[in-house]
Amino acid sequence: MKKKIAILGSTGSIGKSTLEVINMDRKNFQVVLLTANNNYKKLIEQAKKFKAENVIIRNNNFYLRVKKSLNKTKTKVYHGNPSLKKILNKKVDYTISAIVGLAGLQPTIDAIKTSKAVALANKESIICGWEILSSYVKRYNTQIIPVDSEHFSIMELTNNISDDEVKEIIITASGGPFLKTPIKKLKKVKPKQAIKHPNWKMGKKISVDSANLMNKVFEVLEASKIFNFASHKYKILIHPQSYIHSIINFNNGLVKIISYNPDMKIPISNILHGKKNNFLNNKKIDSKILNNINLEEVNESQFPAIKLINKCLNLGPSTTIIVNASNEVLVDLYLKGKIEFLDIVKGINRILRDKEFRKYARRKASTLNALKIIDNWARLKTVDMCVR
Ligand code: NAD
Ligand code: MG
Repeated sequence: MKKKIAILGSTGSIGKSTLEVINMDRKNFQVVLLTANNNYKKLIEQAKKFKAENVIIRNNNFYLRVKKSLNKTKTKVYHGNPSLKKILNKKVDYTISAIVGLAGLQPTIDAIKTSKAVALANKESIICGWEILSSYVKRYNTQIIPVDSEHFSIMELTNNISDDEVKEIIITASGGPFLKTPIKKLKKVKPKQAIKHPNWKMGKKISVDSANLMNKVFEVLEASKIFNFASHKYKILIHPQSYIHSIINFNNGLVKIISYNPDMKIPISNILHGKKNNFLNNKKIDSKILNNINLEEVNESQFPAIKLINKCLNLGPSTTIIVNASNEVLVDLYLKGKIEFLDIVKGINRILRDKEFRKYARRKASTLNALKIIDNWARLKTVDMCVR
């Protein structure tokens, strides 16, 4: 039987990698849903190529264009934020949740209700709404599989391992395009430079997050939500080649390292195919790559974002929601040329000093509404700070 797949955010980097994986084994997959925000042309192209049963274009302005282009096909077209439960009459085998930002949270909740397994790339939903997601996971008996390369790797290395067996968990960071840029030059780096990641081809927001290491802040928080290991055991090491994704140092003296080429098709294809996976045409190990591996400590004056990890873990349960919201606003302003690169982390720290911060940070966001109130406050406050 064909595996039924839904992809939320199919026109993005993770979405496209997922479709490439499916394309290698078309006869075993059936695409039941593709969704996109604005990129209607790509969505139409994907719907035709993969004979998608349903598509959602979120931006209503493009609905008629998508509808018209697909009217001779069997694809059903929806717009806005329709309920997935109404569109999908049976549980799909896998949903890939690959929308960027907290905008992915509600669709991920919907996906948990309508899928046997959700492959979760949308890290903003994990770090802000894990408790909410977990309650739906329990209720609907859905499996959650992390897609992020480091987390996919930790999962591979720690299956059936408990906290008392683990001493340290290393999450690697490439260091992004500015690893060797002198600090005083960082002030003037342009969005075009920031989104030019040396090893990965990703969406713009996560590329900026990778350039100042906010992405690693999020990844440590993401890991401490998903896995049952004490959060102080996570450590970041710079590894410019992006060949090693995580390292586990066990109390029994063993150190396990997981490595593969920096290509998201590898975790995605392992998730969709399981162990019997001969689709990636994997080459033999190149000793030159192994001989050239470097690992080093993070320089916190180059990457002050790293100090936010402890703040998120210690300043109140909703600090992460505030940091994420503020970061989403600031990255957007940076990409639009309205603020400078270093203003992103400075802006986040400013909101943590705001007189109302503690009031919101100490709340427990156990419902979507409670979360949205905190998220909204942080977004408005950040905009307000930037225009003043
Ligand atoms: P991207 O910007 O390339 O794609 C985002 C997708 O989400 C697009 O299809 C877009 O149409 C859709 N989208 C955006 N805003 C939306 C909204 N408001 N409502 C509905 N759909 C919306 O991003 P990406 O690089 O593919 O990353 C997606 C997620 O996966 C992010 O959370 C990112 O942190 C995570 N992730 C990405 C990578 C990577 O290699 N790209 C690796 C690990 C984790
Ligand atoms: Mg990652």
